[in-house]
Amino acid sequence: MAASYSAEARLAATAPFNFSAAAGPLPAPVIAQVAEACRDWRGQGSVLSLPFTGEACAALMVESRALLREILAIPDSHDILFLQGGASAQFGLVPLNLLGDNSEAAYLASGHWSRRAIAEAEKHCTVHVISDPTAPLDPDRCAYLHLTSNETADGLQLHELPQASVPMVADMTSDFLTRRIDWLRVDLAYAAMQKSIGVAGLTILVLRRELLGRARPGVPPVFDYRAQAAAGSRVNTPPVFAIFVTHAMLAWIADQGGLGPLEAAVVRRSEHVYTVLDAHPGTFHVPAPRERRSRTSLCFGGPGPGGNEACIAAAAARGILGLAGHPQAGGLRAAIYAGTSEAAVDRLCDFLADFADRRPEPQNARHSRESGNPCLLNDGSPLSRGRR
Ligand code: PMP
Repeated sequence: MAASYSAEARLAATAPFNFSAAAGPLPAPVIAQVAEACRDWRGQGSVLSLPFTGEACAALMVESRALLREILAIPDSHDILFLQGGASAQFGLVPLNLLGDNSEAAYLASGHWSRRAIAEAEKHCTVHVISDPTAPLDPDRCAYLHLTSNETADGLQLHELPQASVPMVADMTSDFLTRRIDWLRVDLAYAAMQKSIGVAGLTILVLRRELLGRARPGVPPVFDYRAQAAAGSRVNTPPVFAIFVTHAMLAWIADQGGLGPLEAAVVRRSEHVYTVLDAHPGTFHVPAPRERRSRTSLCFGGPGPGGNEACIAAAAARGILGLAGHPQAGGLRAAIYAGTSEAAVDRLCDFLADFADRRPEPQNARHSRESGNPCLLNDGSPLSRGRR
């Protein structure tokens, strides 16, 4: 017993921590549960071949919805859909499902991912691009307002979601399950699960039932919100394994005390990192305005030319992976999601402080502000489009 504990403790002390924004870590007990279920789940055999037509899968989906409803306090006015296609599919499916007879929608441009959503929506309607989320909108013309609650590439987060005069749609892919949601304000929230509470393959939609039934003719039933709602997200084979992983994550979150402690942990962990970064202004720079700093996508710049690369290499040597910024934004980035542990953040903070302290003084004095920081992004500034 003692031997296996120390082996586990040693592994925890030396295992790499990945801070990539692309996919979030799952806590060890969740991974263990998933591994076990790959052999057998509830006497049904491997979860990898759980038939979606059976009672066990139906129960899995019912339980997952119930857990999510409880954790996020989702009222009965909203339905929960389990879809495929990632968040990117929703960039096109939101307009196809919500425009109804309207031909205009408002989009808040706040960074890389909102611009991707805008580019897709422009294929289906007139996009009214806004920079102020509280801007008044005409409900007779505008079908909905779309915003990105957390700009993963830019490190910018909307800490308070606006009260809109039209239905509000939020891409919450990189801050879902890390914050409370006011469902009186949010009519549709969507999030791909690979970051916060699961693996790739599942996109969750939480949407006001009143919005169902507005799909444009020709939308395939698998992507028609009303058809999926009517079929309990089983118009065709749902992503069973990805749903199972999310179910395990939701049960783990419930065991930890629900959203309150989780939200507090994400705030505490991100503040820990920002405190270290701010304490070393000669080495690091956080471009996001303080009031919009993301709690889940922490974007920053390292020292001078070559400094980001040096930081990434030194971090990797200490078992800290995935610190490279978004390919188009450059700089450095550390993602903190629901499954990111205290131990991971502690190791990151120790490393960042150490990295800054080891830099020779004269160079420290020449801050990256002078040499040009590749991570500098202005709130709302247009980012080039293209590959992720
Ligand atoms: N929206 C946001 C805010 C994202 O961060 C991402 C992925 N980084 C996406 C959409 C696209 O997600 P997917 O790859 O699942 O399509």
